[in-house]
Order: sequence, then C-alpha cells, then structure tokens
Amino acid sequence: MLTVYHTKKEFEASDCRIAVLPVGATEQHGSHLPVGTDTIFAERYARELAEALGAYLLPAVAISSSIEHRKGRGTVYLKADTLALVLRDIAESLRFSGFDKLIIANFHGGNWIIKPTVRHLNRELGDFQTILLYAGEVARPRYHEIFNHVQNDVHAGEMETSLMLHLHPEYVADIRRQHEAAFVPQAFMDYFDVGDITPDGYWGFPEDATAEKGSKVLALMLEEGIKYIEEVERVTKQVKARNSREAGQ
Ligand SMILES: [Zn+2]
Repeated sequence: MLTVYHTKKEFEASDCRIAVLPVGATEQHGSHLPVGTDTIFAERYARELAEALGAYLLPAVAISSSIEHRKGRGTVYLKADTLALVLRDIAESLRFSGFDKLIIANFHGGNWIIKPTVRHLNRELGDFQTILLYAGEVARPRYHEIFNHVQNDVHAGEMETSLMLHLHPEYVADIRRQHEAAFVPQAFMDYFDVGDITPDGYWGFPEDATAEKGSKVLALMLEEGIKYIEEVERVTKQVKARNSREAGQ
C-alpha cells in the first residue's frame, strides 16, 4: 500500500495503479457523535480497502455535500457542484501521474453528486476508471442480518452509532432517545434542513446500537465492497475483450 508518507522514488518503484479516496463529511451527527463521524469511517474503510488491494491510500476529502445539515453548529459543506469539480480534478491528476483506477470510498449519503460525476468521468478519461463505492449502499441489502432497523435509520442512528462504538467508543456520548421515532421520507431533505425535521439532529435508532453490530457491519462493508470492485473488473475485462474482437473484425 502507498500513502502520502511515501516518497516520489517509492512511488516510481511501485507498480501500484489503483488509488483509493476516502470521502467523508464534516456535519452534525446529533448530540452523541462527533461532526467528523463520516470522515473517521471513510478513512478507516478506505485504509482497509487500500491494504487489501495494495493501492494508494489518498488523504480524505473531509468536507463534502452537507448543506442539509447547515443548521447544526460545526457543519461545514461544499456545494454539490464544487464537490464534483474537486473529484474531477483528483481523477484527472491521478491519471496524469500514472494511475489507471480511482476508487471513491464514500461514507456520506448526501453526496448524490458523485454518481453522475463518476458516470461522466468514465466516458471522459479514456481507460482510466473511476469506481464509486458507497459503503452504506453496497452493504444495505444485508443490513437485516445485523440491525433491528433497516428503514428510517438514516443519520447517526443504529448503524453509525454501532460503527463508532466499535471503532472509537470514547467518541460516543450518552445516547438517549430525544424524540418520537416518527419520520418524514428521507427525500424531504430536498426541502428542509435536518435541524428542522429532527429535534436533535439524528435520524434513526441510536439507542439500539452495539459495538458488536459495528464490527459486523464494517466486515460486511469490506466484503461487499471487494466483491463489487471484483465484479466491475470482471465485466470490464469482458467488455474490453469484446470491443477489441469487434475492432479486429
Ligand atoms: Zn454520517
């Protein structure tokens, strides 16, 4: 694995062609989790992925698209368009310096803009491939194996609090249900600030969190994440082989 602690010479000596970029957020996570929660998770997830893949672990993009949390003190956001531009520049510069794949290990659900950005980058940068790995998405189909709640556990709830209890219990403050577990649809973040629709800022069931669930979900995210990357690789090879056969005819 390469990191920013390696020298240019060490990069030159390495045949590593894959980079992993953690994307977190700096946003309120209720009264019980730190504002850097998503970044702490993204860094850990990306590190484990980079180790497994022998990749270049990049420093995290720690400020991202969190405008919906702007009323929580401590929140800092980029506008979605700005985040898209940042990611485009990162992909372009990696390609220029000899990498051929970027894996974006995203841990913030509000970063919707990454998806169309990746879709465009994969048409614009030749053979350079950008893969979006949203930890919560790849693991979600199997959340029912771990969690009591798979619906309405959106933010600083059972999943995130469990993961923090596993990784850094010292960062988890007293968890107490602050309000009735009644929720509007998640899409209402398009219209309202989270502070206006959740009294404390969390959205879900943190009171059901345990460190054991956190350890299980991290393992699941890694397992499903690696599977997803391998599947993209398998289909990429197939498509390339088919295209070169057709070009040869
Ligand atoms: Zn979060």
